[in-house]
Amino acid sequence: MKNATDESSKPMDALGDMSAEEFRRYGHQLIDWVADYLSHPERYPVLSQNQPGAVKAALPNAPPTAGESFDAILEDLDRVILPGMTHWNHPAFFAYFSISGSAPGILGELLSAAFNVNAMLWRTSPSATELEEVTLDWLRQMIGLPEAFAGVLYDTASISSLCAIAAAREAAPPGRLRLYASEQAHSSIEKSAITLGLGRGATRAIATDAEFRMDVAALAAAIAEDRAAGYQPFCVTATVGTTSTTSIDPVPQIADLCEREKLWLHVDAAYGGSAAVLPEMKWILAGAERADSLVMNPHKWLFVPVDLSVLYCRRMEVLKAAFSLVPEYLRTSEDEVRNYMDYGPQLGRRFRALKLWFVLRYFGTDGIIARLRHHIEIAKEMAAWVDESENFERLAPVPFATVCFRAYPQDLRERVGALGSQAEAGAYLDLLNERMMEEVNHRGKVFLSHTKLNGRFTLRLAIGNIRTRREHVRLAWDELNAALETLDANIRPLTLRS
Ligand code: PLP
Repeated sequence: MKNATDESSKPMDALGDMSAEEFRRYGHQLIDWVADYLSHPERYPVLSQNQPGAVKAALPNAPPTAGESFDAILEDLDRVILPGMTHWNHPAFFAYFSISGSAPGILGELLSAAFNVNAMLWRTSPSATELEEVTLDWLRQMIGLPEAFAGVLYDTASISSLCAIAAAREAAPPGRLRLYASEQAHSSIEKSAITLGLGRGATRAIATDAEFRMDVAALAAAIAEDRAAGYQPFCVTATVGTTSTTSIDPVPQIADLCEREKLWLHVDAAYGGSAAVLPEMKWILAGAERADSLVMNPHKWLFVPVDLSVLYCRRMEVLKAAFSLVPEYLRTSEDEVRNYMDYGPQLGRRFRALKLWFVLRYFGTDGIIARLRHHIEIAKEMAAWVDESENFERLAPVPFATVCFRAYPQDLRERVGALGSQAEAGAYLDLLNERMMEEVNHRGKVFLSHTKLNGRFTLRLAIGNIRTRREHVRLAWDELNAALETLDANIRPLTLRS
């Protein structure tokens, strides 16, 4: 981009914006700050050590009347905001689905804020619209979906799924609608049904097998039962990479059933979809080529800053029919173009595609493959440490880069029979693992979260940050082992009969 030559260096007047000179000065300062921060996010505790209310207490309860200097604002950034940050950029952030943006993505965000277009119509920013079409088609090729799918950007997977399910409803015959997803599906699916006015009872949770994958026979039985009871089944959501364990539903068999039953198949690949960029992981999207829609989140595991979620749809005309309502003042003469406002509930749209374009171009497919492959490799190493340890056990397979496990000290395992109470040992293990997680998180070097699997408190270590290396995973493992040693020694005598 060329430098502007007629830049104004006047200070802010009563009506204008910050002067170009001041913007340049603080802009440089902030970029320097961000560069340092991203080089060493581990200088900060990964989990904010703030008490609730600390940020609010440090801020005035009324807005400033007179404008303040940018220096004063930046001072408060250090004083108030930074201590209240949980650092998702930290390489030892392993909680939830660990994510990170990346420098090219951050620069894309900066530019889209600078352009500040509203890409509701093609004409209100042809570049935003056409770049969205192009980048989403690139990404489609990268994950191996057929050309029949077109993409649309939303903020989050929750909204992508909401729009997909709205389209499914548009295509459905009238009746008391029923939607199906596994008991491991993300809550956004049920929330979508609620938001669309289908009601809580409209979503049926289908049982899963021992590896947390949807049981297709149970799905077929639920559909048959519902039809017999007068319901109108209309949509199945299959998940590729469930939130708790990253299990992969059997999409090919679910697609067969949806074809037979004439149901909309939506695939929630919000987390797992990115992995399909790897040649050796293409299998995870087997069957998805027959879906009606699929969501994936480049802001989860493709180094694009939050927020950016992609909905791929094979029936864009149905999605459009669900949402298009064009008032007179938004009518335009270009009818061969895509007006993205027609494909969702929102009118205004920001220029999200820019940051995706920067990320895809800067790293290239090869660079993305190398980074995701590394994550999967080090997650498998962590899984192997768990498997080899006498004091831990793994609680789910590891198809991607997330490991579910718990501490189960060997001597306790041996004594469980003798104790005569499996339930008592189970309650102790829940307590022990929860306390271990709290202890490790409180120490601030690593951050993990948990789930419940088959009623057991389960630790989850999710790798997805661009800076995470083997040594950070090793650190988490060492921290967990150290916490196990002290806590087991301290709480077991108080909790379990010897
Ligand atoms: N689907 C799955 C499988 C998820 O794991 C998540 C979040 O973790 C979501 C959907 C929701 O994602 P978002 O926060 O983008 O709405």
